[in-house]
Amino acid sequence: MSALVVTRDLDLWNLFCRRKRGAPDGWQWRKIETVGDHRSPREHCASVIEGGVCSVLYASGKRKGQRNWTKRDPLGDRTFVISFAEFDAFIAEVELETGSCLTCFGTGQEGRSWNIKTGVGYETCGKCQGTGLSAQKSTVTP
Ligand SMILES: [Zn+2]
Repeated sequence: MSALVVTRDLDLWNLFCRRKRGAPDGWQWRKIETVGDHRSPREHCASVIEGGVCSVLYASGKRKGQRNWTKRDPLGDRTFVISFAEFDAFIAEVELETGSCLTCFGTGQEGRSWNIKTGVGYETCGKCQGTGLSAQKSTVTP
């Protein structure tokens, strides 16, 4: 397995499903639903993730460049149920593996707001205090 590099493009749901649930190569989620609501204790909540393998993109029209899910590989369809606790543990595991903070994807800046004129407003990441490093690794001095 090649070393995992944390960037803003890293999709933790796809990574989780491939690593922990054996989703096939090229698998991508397309729908995520949450089971439970704000009244439920967090440990009782879970996400239901549906996805598949689709490499066909729309060549034209207003959806140009997006995946054409009607042309996906039918053998790649999977639905996974992932508890919040399990996903939290996975995030901690990836932070430990990469040494990067996943709240800000190692950038030290967290997108907090969006404005039509200025775009995304960034602020110092509250989890890593702007270091971009995971708490687990940044406390360990080599
Ligand atoms: Zn951070």
